[in-house]
Amino acid sequence: MKNKLWYDWKWQVQNSVTDIKQILNQKVTYNYNMRVTPYYMSLMKDDDNCPIRKQAIPSHKELEKNSINYEKYGIDITDSLCEKKYSPVSHLVHRYPDRVMIEVTNNCFMYCRFCTRKRLTKIDRKQNDLKSAYKYIRENENIRDVLLSGGDPLTLEDSQLEEIISTLKEIKHIEIIRIGTRAPVVMPMRITDELTDMLRKYHPIWINTHFNHPVEVTEQSQNACEKLINAGIPMGNQSVLLKEINDNVEVYKELCLKLVKMRVRPYYLYQCDIGEGLEHFRTNIKVGVNIIKELRQNITGFAIPAYVIDAPNGGGKITINPENIVEWTEDYVKLKNYLGDEYYYPEI
Ligand SMILES: *Cc1c(COP(=O)(O)O)cnc(C)c1O
Ligand code: SF4
Repeated sequence: MKNKLWYDWKWQVQNSVTDIKQILNQKVTYNYNMRVTPYYMSLMKDDDNCPIRKQAIPSHKELEKNSINYEKYGIDITDSLCEKKYSPVSHLVHRYPDRVMIEVTNNCFMYCRFCTRKRLTKIDRKQNDLKSAYKYIRENENIRDVLLSGGDPLTLEDSQLEEIISTLKEIKHIEIIRIGTRAPVVMPMRITDELTDMLRKYHPIWINTHFNHPVEVTEQSQNACEKLINAGIPMGNQSVLLKEINDNVEVYKELCLKLVKMRVRPYYLYQCDIGEGLEHFRTNIKVGVNIIKELRQNITGFAIPAYVIDAPNGGGKITINPENIVEWTEDYVKLKNYLGDEYYYPEI
């Protein structure tokens, strides 16, 4: 039995581990922030292969130089997705015509070691100034969907979050608001009744969370998702394919099945982005394709996420499918099913 404070999200924030010396007696200074909640620490095993440990605890590998010559491909590893180029005003990224992402905060409950935004989250800023973002959204009527991202938007107080959501809600052409948050996974106590009562006033609100491994699905994280879903919020999951963490068919399948059992729809499986200090997390694309292929054969269709690569140099998300079209002529398409058998489908 944990004491009462354990279930209080503010206590979890105050008692988060922010210094490697709190865990290891090791004198290393790191280029990137560290922060882990006591809750997430409690899931950790004293084993270097622990998937929780690998996501949360800094490693000297983050300081190693990349072995691939990304420049040859015109890729700037400090901003491989070219978010700067697609950012017309500060804290807003507009890559697709009908939707924008806004970075409401730079803070996270936990700093994931594989994070693409590692450099941004280094700047400790609780709440970003969104005035110019609001103005931009108001003036662009083709924007109908706003994604609140960061950092983790739920690190804000309910009142700060409500101010952002209600401001967006007042803009006529905004049809949906969605939030990307890892709180259900690393800080499930953040999902309070006060929070869900506030969010349900602003429907349609959608939430995507970020489970990477089946051991992250605990009773508490399950309760957190259930609370959000029972408040009428559809939930999706975006995970990142991580070397020696979840790059395995059995592990990933177990995760997807656990997610649908708690009514969270697997949405995306991301190829780990290119960036500084991330190389030890990256897998080959073949690994992801093979996972999707195996899932297609074995589990419920809606338990299978789309495998996506956020293309370097600002290409946006590209879905990668196992190749199902074998041949494409004017008269027919030759298709291959999950068993590898081929079928002709006449064109109209
Ligand atoms: C991923 C992303 C979105 C949302 O894309 P969906 O495919 O609709 O989930 C929006 N804006 C940016 C900049 C993104 O990277
Ligand atoms: S919660 Fe998201 S933004 Fe924050 S460190 Fe993890 S992956 Fe990055």
